[in-house]
Amino acid sequence: MTTASAPKISFVSLGCPKALVDSERIITRLRAEGYELARKHDGADIVIVNTCGFLDSAKQESLGAIGEAMAENGKVIVTGCMGAEPEQIEKEYPNVLSITGPQQYESVLEAVHRALPPMHNPHLDLVPPQGIKLTPRHYAYLKISEGCNNRCTFCIIPKLRGDLVSRPANDVLREAEKLVAAGVKELLVVSQDTSAYGIDIKYESSPWKDRDVRARFLDLTRELGELGAWVRLQYVYPYPHVDDVIALMGGNILPYLDIPFQHANPEVLKRMRRPAAQDKTLARIHKWREQCPDLTLRSTFIVGFPGETESEFQDLLDWLDEAQIDRLGCFKYEPVAGVTSNALDNPVPDEIKTARWNALMARQQKISAQRLKRKVGTRQQVIIDEIGPSVAKGRSKADAPQIDGSVYVSSRRPLKVGDIVTAKIERADEYDLHGTVAGF
Ligand code: SF4
Repeated sequence: MTTASAPKISFVSLGCPKALVDSERIITRLRAEGYELARKHDGADIVIVNTCGFLDSAKQESLGAIGEAMAENGKVIVTGCMGAEPEQIEKEYPNVLSITGPQQYESVLEAVHRALPPMHNPHLDLVPPQGIKLTPRHYAYLKISEGCNNRCTFCIIPKLRGDLVSRPANDVLREAEKLVAAGVKELLVVSQDTSAYGIDIKYESSPWKDRDVRARFLDLTRELGELGAWVRLQYVYPYPHVDDVIALMGGNILPYLDIPFQHANPEVLKRMRRPAAQDKTLARIHKWREQCPDLTLRSTFIVGFPGETESEFQDLLDWLDEAQIDRLGCFKYEPVAGVTSNALDNPVPDEIKTARWNALMARQQKISAQRLKRKVGTRQQVIIDEIGPSVAKGRSKADAPQIDGSVYVSSRRPLKVGDIVTAKIERADEYDLHGTVAGF
């Protein structure tokens, strides 16, 4: 390598928002050391692939990305969830330079240093104080903990990422404050189990401004709401204290919860060993909606879990009718290598999984469309994500980036990405809303 110009790295980030936060941290460190990011593999000195290993399909996508990087560049460092089980990668791509698991930032950096030494005089001021964000400047993911104390039988994450490790509250708040100062208008709070935040550090207090803040979901959420940006809560389990968080919603704490319920039938939930699985969930949802009528609920479900009977599946459909979840993602059960649910009796044949998936999606589509239609005629605040030739694309408080729908707005005044405007909603289609800006 010639060292006249800065060493260049091409970075591929796959997987969930939590993996994206890891990528941001690695890139921030590399930029601090004087490395530059390349747009393409073939213009880079080296490629880093941050993999996802959650499902077999994600593993295939990761292997595909490694293969592409090997073909186009040849010098490849692999990290992330799939790196916790390196055998499969080594088998297909024996010439990758190094493989490390999630959160092993130091090992990734060491591997980069070995293959591509940093410039002699790294300028620390290359990095803005809020770090490097891979998300657009107006929103950012905020990871409050790593790992998970639960042991859901279908999930490999605790094996890959270890037990829950929460960040001190003031550490999270400092990062959030820097992000907001740098122009971020929406903070997306993520972790594997957001409502379990702080359990591992016994909700320890840490000094923040003129007060002490406990490392508790409720306390942290309240403080984040003081920073002036929207706060969206993701991957929340319905533990009892979530009821108190609903009371905070309305201002900057968005009336939105992403709760991966996964199923509704108590027997299936038991076999899944889901946290906070209990039959009072429907009553809780009704109570939350009474307290906060604008609440949007997003969830994910698994169909075809081992042993799922027709009547258990029917329970799930009935539950959906009652719960009126606004947004829903559904997976067919995949027997991911290494998970304990693979040992359960009565696996569900693939064609039944597909039939149940179709039935669930059809049922939900109606519910989602009806709920969306109720917004026609209302005024909604919209954060602008993209400016188009005739309309701008944005999201209301009910829409998380990348997973939910959009709001398309026309405006007489020019808009900028990151603006938050009030729009009058005129029309709804299956997933999106359409309207006109009525206030700034
Ligand atoms: S809560 Fe369950 S599904 Fe989520 S990361 Fe933990 S073990 Fe996996």
